[in-house]
Amino acid sequence: AIEVRELRKSFGDLEVLKGIDLTVGRGDVVCVIGPSGSGKSTLLRCVNLLEEPTSGTVTVAGTEVTDPDVDIDRVRRRIGMVFQSFNLFPHLTALENLTIAQRRVLRRGKEEAERIARANLARVGLVDKEQSYPAQLSGGQQQRVAIARALSMDPELMLFDEPTSALDPELVGDVLAVMRSLAQEGMTMLVVTHEMSFAREVADRVVFMDDGVIVEEGTPERVVGDPQHERTRTFLARVL
Ligand code: ATP
Ligand code: MG
Repeated sequence: AIEVRELRKSFGDLEVLKGIDLTVGRGDVVCVIGPSGSGKSTLLRCVNLLEEPTSGTVTVAGTEVTDPDVDIDRVRRRIGMVFQSFNLFPHLTALENLTIAQRRVLRRGKEEAERIARANLARVGLVDKEQSYPAQLSGGQQQRVAIARALSMDPELMLFDEPTSALDPELVGDVLAVMRSLAQEGMTMLVVTHEMSFAREVADRVVFMDDGVIVEEGTPERVVGDPQHERTRTFLARVL
């Protein structure tokens, strides 16, 4: 569902992605790990065109999104994105956070949008919080609202950029549990994470990035359990 070919991205003189090739098949979960500054977020942002690649191609669900003639808004609509910071609208309730884009972007009516919103709040375990404002929710609950909001747009795939790294440790598990159930339902997911136990248990493939390149990739058993490269071993020794 995602194909990245020879992707390069520079900011001025700084080349941040130095030729990335990556395939995420339909229904696959791929976890990206690597040190700070290695280009993980930039890679995700190139997939949904929050950053414009310098060269190379990105294809999402059969559409080459790097084609200059492509309708970027249409592409983004098919991609759910969840960030480290939850980015909810503070002045809207959880339910309203889930319905606003459905109504404005997908032109769904109020009733349909609310029905879909409630179904997705249930999916993330927050049926009883639909009238709560973000400030009344824990970080983990806010992040689950953010996931439910992305799901309400019927995405073909989901991108996650360190979705649990801003959370207190005791709140991480609930968010990972939601992501795990999404994976089991067959959602295509590209996940930047430092949660090695999640990567080990849920990922079909783990990709280790360093300094703008993919150093190695493979099954979690291979990459996390038996890394072949010194740089991967050094990184894992720090995070495990
Ligand atoms: P972290 O684990 O800390 O989130 P990362 O692997 O996600 O790191 P990126 O955020 O992709 O790393 O950043 C890679 C490099 O690109 C860094 O050196 C960063 O400073 C640089 N960079 C990212 N965005 C920009 C930008 N908009 N302008 C200039 N430089 C940028
Ligand atoms: Mg990042």
